[in-house]
Amino acid sequence: MMAETVIIGGGIAGLSLASELAVRRGSGDGIILVEAENALAHHTSSRSAQQLIPSYGPEPVLELTRLTIPDLVTPTYAAPVPLAWPSPFVVAGSPADVAAMTVPGLRTLSSDALFEYCPELSDNAERYQSAIIDESAVRTDATALVEWHRRRAEHAGVQIRTGARVTAAQRASGDAWVVTAGEEQLTARTVVNAAGAWADHVAEFFGAAPQQLQPLRRTAALVSLNEPLGPTHPMVDDAASGWYYRPDEDGAMISWGEAEPSPACDAQPHPGSIEELIETVERETSMRVTGVRKAWTGLRTEAPSGIPVCGWDPQASNFLWLAGQGGYGFQTSSALARAATDVLVGGQIGGWLSAETVTALQPQPATE
Ligand SMILES: Cc1cc2nc3c(=O)[nH]c(=O)nc-3n(C[C@H](O)[C@H](O)[C@H](O)COP(=O)(O)OP(=O)(O)OC[C@H]3O[C@@H](n4cnc5c(N)ncnc54)[C@H](O)[C@@H]3O)c2cc1C
Repeated sequence: MMAETVIIGGGIAGLSLASELAVRRGSGDGIILVEAENALAHHTSSRSAQQLIPSYGPEPVLELTRLTIPDLVTPTYAAPVPLAWPSPFVVAGSPADVAAMTVPGLRTLSSDALFEYCPELSDNAERYQSAIIDESAVRTDATALVEWHRRRAEHAGVQIRTGARVTAAQRASGDAWVVTAGEEQLTARTVVNAAGAWADHVAEFFGAAPQQLQPLRRTAALVSLNEPLGPTHPMVDDAASGWYYRPDEDGAMISWGEAEPSPACDAQPHPGSIEELIETVERETSMRVTGVRKAWTGLRTEAPSGIPVCGWDPQASNFLWLAGQGGYGFQTSSALARAATDVLVGGQIGGWLSAETVTALQPQPATE
């Protein structure tokens, strides 16, 4: 089968690129997305906190986030449900711990104002003396967003293959690739590596420069509470320890906020981890957990710089990286899809992104 572009990976990265590229080209003909699992977004993209925080991350991530949020709040292609809506983000703790996490533009909250937003912290006034709020943060519905990209891509003619794991690649004539995906051999002029935690592994098939990507575990749960937090309650991050919670239906999503190195795999919570997290939440707040609806672990995959990797591989021609999104894969998704599309269509990222960010995104040469 002949293709113009094969995208490897059916998470938010691969799907948002498929939909953006198809719309930009005016057709999805010749674009094939291959996903190893039998369902799309089986790995990290179905395991996130679904928050887009313009004050969270290194500067290139902040710029990509600022550019992504408007695309999700007011999508140009019909969305049957809202893709994003306001959802403030609060960091609370000691003055020193909160100050360490402050970036310009955030509003400081007095403890009275904090306890008005978050009455469940008011019994622990000694720990929560100080807070900052990012009122420009938004929540996304990750399932709806992934589905929105799938529909937009397929409507334009993109072919999506699930159960099609890439296991080998070789050069075809010219600079094209022959990619083995499941039972199929796909010949493509360009290949995009959006394989999440497996991106360095996939790169080996193509002789591309490894980006030293490290998958990092993060565990979370959806719990029921004795008293709901209310839909406008902010997401709250404990400045000292990094655990966090946010409202979810009649309960909350809670997470350790940890970053524990892991091989690429279908990660699962360590035994006892959710119980310990619930103990912590109940010790530090007045929230009382009445049940666990779902618990999971996902892999946030980072390059050593902590900045996503988006650009041509320095040694394997016609091989584009779209990986290393770490904990920012949703909040940077539209801008990164636009950047990757620029490269595929015109050879380089356009002037809408700062030169510093464009440089920071470039894949690194292989080290000895
Ligand atoms: C607990 C937690 C909370 C998070 N919270 C947020 C948040 O609030 N906001 C935010 O922006 N981000 C958040 N993230 C990060 C975000 O979820 C990720 O950055 C994003 O999902 C990564 O998307 P991806 O498409 O790169 O990876 P994935 O979703 O993992 O997709 C990669 C896909 O590639 C496929 N693949 C791998 N190898 C092959 C192969 N050989 N052939 C074919 N397919 C292959 C995999 O099966 C997988 O489906 C969070 C992550 C976690 C774990």
